[in-house]
Amino acid sequence: MFQTDTIAAIATGMTNAGIGIIRVSGEESIKIVDRIFWAKNPKKTLEKTKSYQALFGNIHDGDVIMDEAICLVMRAPNSYTTEDVVEIQCHGGMIMLRKILELVIRSGARAAEAGEFTKRAYLGGRIDITQAESVMDLIYAKNEMAARASVSQLRGNLSEKLKEIRAMILHHIAYIESALDDPENYSLEGYADALQLQLEDTIERLDMLLATADEGKIIKEGIRTVILGKPNAGKSSLLNRLLGEERAIVTEVAGTTRDTLEEDAMIQGIPLKIIDTAGIRETTDTVEKIGVDKAKNSAEDADLILYVVDGAKTLDADDRQIMELLTDRKVITIINKSDVDQVVDKQWITSNLSSPVVELSAKTGEGMQDLYECLKTMFFHGKLTMNDEVYITNVRHKQALAEAKRSLCQALDSIRGQMPEDFLTIDMMAAYEQLGYILGETLDDDLANEIFSKFCMGK
Ligand code: GDP
Repeated sequence: MFQTDTIAAIATGMTNAGIGIIRVSGEESIKIVDRIFWAKNPKKTLEKTKSYQALFGNIHDGDVIMDEAICLVMRAPNSYTTEDVVEIQCHGGMIMLRKILELVIRSGARAAEAGEFTKRAYLGGRIDITQAESVMDLIYAKNEMAARASVSQLRGNLSEKLKEIRAMILHHIAYIESALDDPENYSLEGYADALQLQLEDTIERLDMLLATADEGKIIKEGIRTVILGKPNAGKSSLLNRLLGEERAIVTEVAGTTRDTLEEDAMIQGIPLKIIDTAGIRETTDTVEKIGVDKAKNSAEDADLILYVVDGAKTLDADDRQIMELLTDRKVITIINKSDVDQVVDKQWITSNLSSPVVELSAKTGEGMQDLYECLKTMFFHGKLTMNDEVYITNVRHKQALAEAKRSLCQALDSIRGQMPEDFLTIDMMAAYEQLGYILGETLDDDLANEIFSKFCMGK
């Protein structure tokens, strides 16, 4: 899997900006850039420059000067990729950046594939696959919490926990195998009891990691929030209020929101992915009908339903139909239009719906704070602080953790059923491998390629 050719790509965004960076990595990187770079001081070359030092000068194509640039040298193994790396920092106009990249390629480098720099960092042993994945998560993080969770993973916090558990499992496998081979020197007397305690403890640790997966998903993607309510209850107005801008069309004609709208919002530290749905009611209009079906579907996989009731109207058959969708779901019932005379039977709502009820006005913003407090209590146990905690934010990790736990539970069953020791080692080995799979140790090439291909260019 090792490749030693030299790769190059634009590492900054594909848009005009003040500065743009072209990153070159590989054995020939310093030589290649020297071919197209004249340092201001003609006596200096990148070849003679120490690691982490930079030269100022001009990028040239033959006699033609293309741009001024600063070239930063980072020598193996102390670079992002663990190879020799040169970063050419020039002006960030896309036309010139592309021209310079072409020049670097003509001078001996190859255009990097998406994620190839990070793949080299992984192949060079500087980071494991969970850290590589966290780089991608960090780049695409939609909110600060997601970014912090990625940084924690990038710093190796998840890897460390997994390595500890694996070391423990391996130790026990090795001991059992030794005892089976050499019973005179290694005794298995009473060993099963000690192992049982250890396995129970480890399963608990895996459970704790798995328990973070729901919050992890929410941190990464936002709380999938669906706003339900009959036409004209004020769903679009609430969405606009939440987003703080006029995004959905608010009208007085019932049934204007015909499709579903999705918006990411960060509200007082709470990441929401809000799905605005068409108003639910019995309808014969086919276009509107599709919207209503979609609303029902998105309600099904929502983390949270905001059920908007029109405070200025009495409940009717449409409301009852919506209430059927709320059973066993996380719901906040919102009695909207608190700024006008209230007609709705609040008593009935609070005693018949199990969800918390918030009264507010999407029009004036009154009562919105109560909604936010309610959200904070429902999710994240009311606290939204994140330290170095490990959150499982990746489905691949979650599945492998669950598999590892299953194997350890089987090993535990074998102990309780007083099965012979070699039975245990099979399951323990399976758990060891599953955890290794998260770290990339038992990853096949296809999966590694798939993981890296999701990266953006230049990373
Ligand atoms: P939707 O069909 O549920 O999306 O409802 P809209 O957001 O389009 O609102 C329907 C009508 O109710 C519009 O005329 C809004 O201006 C009005 N409306 C929405 N929220 C409030 C509110 O809090 N107070 C008052 N007085 N009117 C509101």
